[in-house]
Amino acid sequence: MRTLEYVRVGEPAQAVAELAADPAAAFLAGGTTQLDLMKIGTVTARRLVDITRLPLRDVTFDGGDLRVGALVTMERLAREPVVAQRLPVLRDALLAGASVQLRNAATIGGNLLQRTRCPYFRDVATACNKRDPGAGCAALEGVHRNHAILGTSPHCIATHPSDLAVALVALDAVVRLLGPDGPRTVPLTGFYLPPDDTPRLETVLRHGDLVTGVDIPLPAQGTRSGYLKVRDRASYDFALASAAVVADPGRTRVALGGVATVPWRARRAEAVLREAPEAFVAAAGAELADAEPRRDNGYKVELARRTLIRALSTWAAP
Ligand SMILES: Cc1cc2nc3c(=O)[nH]c(=O)nc-3n(C[C@H](O)[C@H](O)[C@H](O)COP(=O)(O)OP(=O)(O)OC[C@H]3O[C@@H](n4cnc5c(N)ncnc54)[C@H](O)[C@@H]3O)c2cc1C
Repeated sequence: MRTLEYVRVGEPAQAVAELAADPAAAFLAGGTTQLDLMKIGTVTARRLVDITRLPLRDVTFDGGDLRVGALVTMERLAREPVVAQRLPVLRDALLAGASVQLRNAATIGGNLLQRTRCPYFRDVATACNKRDPGAGCAALEGVHRNHAILGTSPHCIATHPSDLAVALVALDAVVRLLGPDGPRTVPLTGFYLPPDDTPRLETVLRHGDLVTGVDIPLPAQGTRSGYLKVRDRASYDFALASAAVVADPGRTRVALGGVATVPWRARRAEAVLREAPEAFVAAAGAELADAEPRRDNGYKVELARRTLIRALSTWAAP
C-alpha cells in the first residue's frame, strides 16, 4: 500500500504554492482521469491537492471572449445558451465526449490535461517513453490500430484523446494559467507539445502551474461551425477520427482529432481553403499528405480524409 497525502485548498495561489513545494504532488479536479491512473500505477503522485473548492466555476461573456473557469464541468458548459447559439462546434465536441455521468464530474481544465488512452502508457508492464523516458515504445510494433498518423515520432505514436481541445484549437482559444511566477496566458495552438524525443513533456506547463480558465473568442455572427466524431461505438468512445470546422464569413478554421499526437490544427487544409473555399477534397488531401500510418492504422488516413470532407461539406459549404 502506498501512503497518499490529501490537501484541499480554497485559493488559487494556495493551490500553486502547495504544488510548487512538492515535486510529487498533483492537482485533483473531477478525478475522472487522475484517480484511474493512480489506481493502475501509471501515475504516482504522493500528494493530491484538491482544487474543487477554488472559485473557478464562472462562465462569463465580456463582449468579445467567453471566459470559462477551469472547474466548469463539461456538461454545464455544453448547456450554456451562448455555447448552443454561438459555438455549436464547442457544444458538439463536449457532448461527444465521455458519458453524461462523467461529464457532470469532469472539468474543462482536467479535460485539457487528460492523458493519452494508449494501452501501453496505461499498462506499467510494457515499455512507454511517455511514462518512463528511454524505455522504448511498445506501440510501434504492438497493436496500434488506434494510434496517431500525424505528429508522430520514433519515440511515441500515442493520440491525444480530448474532443474539447480539438474544438478549442479551431476556435483559437487561449488558456489562462497561474504559476509560481504569476499569471500568464498561452494560445491553445501552442499549449501542446509534439512528442519528438521527449514524449513525457506533453504541454508547456511547468510544475505548479494551475489552469485557471480558458478564453474563447466568439466567432462573428453568421459563422457556421460543428464537430464530427467517428468512433467504434457511437454511444460513447474516444475518436478514431474527428474534425472541428469553424467557417467564419471569409475564412475557415479546421482541426483534427483522434489521428494526431496533439489536437491538430489543420493549417494546410486552411491554406487550400483560403485560395479555393470549396476545394474540400484538395484541402483534406493536403492535410493528410504527410500522414505516417503504420501496420494497423493505415485506415485512419482515409477515415480522416472522409471525416474532414464531410465536416467541411456540412459547415463550410455556401
Ligand atoms: C470512460 C471514459 C471515457 C471518456 N471519454 C472521453 C471522450 O470521448 N472524449 C474526451 O474528450 N474525454 C473523454 N474522457 C476523459 C474525460 O473527459 C476526462 O477524464 C475529464 O475531462 C478530466 O477532468 P477531471 O476534472 O476529472 O480531471 P482530473 O482527473 O481531476 O485531472 C486530470 C489531469 O488534469 C490535471 N488537472 C486538472 N485540473 C487542472 C487544473 N485546473 N490545472 C492544472 N492541472 C489540472 C490533474 O492533475 C490531472 O493530471 C473519458 C474519460 C473516461 C473515464
